[in-house]
Amino acid sequence: MTIEICAVGGFSEIGKNMIAIKYKDEAIICDMGFYLPKIITYQEEEGEVGSYGMTREILAKIDAIPDDSVIKEWKPFVKAIIIGHCHLDHLGGVPYMAGDYNCPVIATPYTLEVLKTILADERIKIRNPLKPLSTGSSIKVSENITIEFITMTHSTLQTAMTAIHTPEGTIVYANDYKFDNHPVIGKKPDYERLKELGNSGKVIALIMDSLYSDARMKTPSEKVAREMLGDVMLGVDNKGKLMVVTTFASHIARLKSVIDFGKKLKRKVVFMGRSMHKYISAAENLNLVSFSKEAEIVWIGEHVKRKLKEISLNKEKYLVICTGNQGEPKSILMKMVMKDLPFEFQQGDTVIFSCRAIPAPINMANRAMLEDKLSRKGVRIFKDIHVSGHAAREDHRDLINMLKPKYVIPAHGDVSKLTPLADLASEMGYVLGKTVLIVRDGQIVEVEA
Ligand SMILES: [Zn+2]
Ligand SMILES: [Zn+2]
Repeated sequence: MTIEICAVGGFSEIGKNMIAIKYKDEAIICDMGFYLPKIITYQEEEGEVGSYGMTREILAKIDAIPDDSVIKEWKPFVKAIIIGHCHLDHLGGVPYMAGDYNCPVIATPYTLEVLKTILADERIKIRNPLKPLSTGSSIKVSENITIEFITMTHSTLQTAMTAIHTPEGTIVYANDYKFDNHPVIGKKPDYERLKELGNSGKVIALIMDSLYSDARMKTPSEKVAREMLGDVMLGVDNKGKLMVVTTFASHIARLKSVIDFGKKLKRKVVFMGRSMHKYISAAENLNLVSFSKEAEIVWIGEHVKRKLKEISLNKEKYLVICTGNQGEPKSILMKMVMKDLPFEFQQGDTVIFSCRAIPAPINMANRAMLEDKLSRKGVRIFKDIHVSGHAAREDHRDLINMLKPKYVIPAHGDVSKLTPLADLASEMGYVLGKTVLIVRDGQIVEVEA
């Protein structure tokens, strides 16, 4: 009996991740993401994806969500939509697409909390039940399919690696993972479970994150990013000047490190921006962090203005953590530099980019403009104070060795990203076109034990 795997999205671009897996007359979907560069072009405010009347039709027309018409015959068979983590390239499409399927959305509690915040902000109601599944647990979704969430690390909270168990064997969906042995928040990856699955000889296919498969390294731990941040924040002479850190709002562990160093500097920590509020409050609702005890969180326009006026009078007393790491036009940092907010950067103020610019033309252009404006004002810029949340080539080798899948299917990128992972698998004895399958959006492949 074969298992069909459909690459719905994320195999011809970086984004709009979605796959569907069908066994007999039962199917499941993993991820329903946004293609972010297309969204950013339409974005009114950073973090406020979709809140300006975007509909499924518009999103489909601008190519910002996966084209699930390729699995329209499978629709009645879909038993669950499984979302591996809260990043928008995996979760963003759910409010607009999940309603077409008569099944629950299954995700970890934090991922669901972020989804609920998005649904509330966008005033969208979906009829799908939302079912929490913690990492380290399983749920039977149909007669033949059981879903297991394996504890994994990435760059946001409660990321899961998904094992889809069928009577024929198991498919592992390993998009967006890293092997972090010193995570700042949360548990280490569950290597024991991965090895157990591999040793059972039951892993049929491994669908895996290929984004940095050409980087010949092991992706450094979040602990390294924390050291880098501390080195800059505590190590530069910043007397009398403002310090600003910008990073991804969903990177809660990174935000925690920034707060910790802000306290060491005896600065008052102020978070600014709607998406900062969104992801932090989702984490606080679940008691995963308690940032509002240690910092102020300001996201409403008027409050931001008032706070920045206050900060202007006493810059050396504050540490601002804000949106704008990609130079988004309506982000706090961009508005500060454009003087759309009552604030003026001065010679010697510090801006730390705890991120890397996402290599899409729109992001690169926005970031270049932001940096140019900052440097014209004499601001000290610290870039790339960051480590990635995506595994690199040598991590992938370890994952393949642990799971010993029959087939490897590279995901999370176009052919230029998929190919280096296919090369690695070939190096390890897999055969391109036979046991390593490079697929494109819309393609269905069959695998068997
Ligand atoms: Zn991610
Ligand atoms: Zn991703």
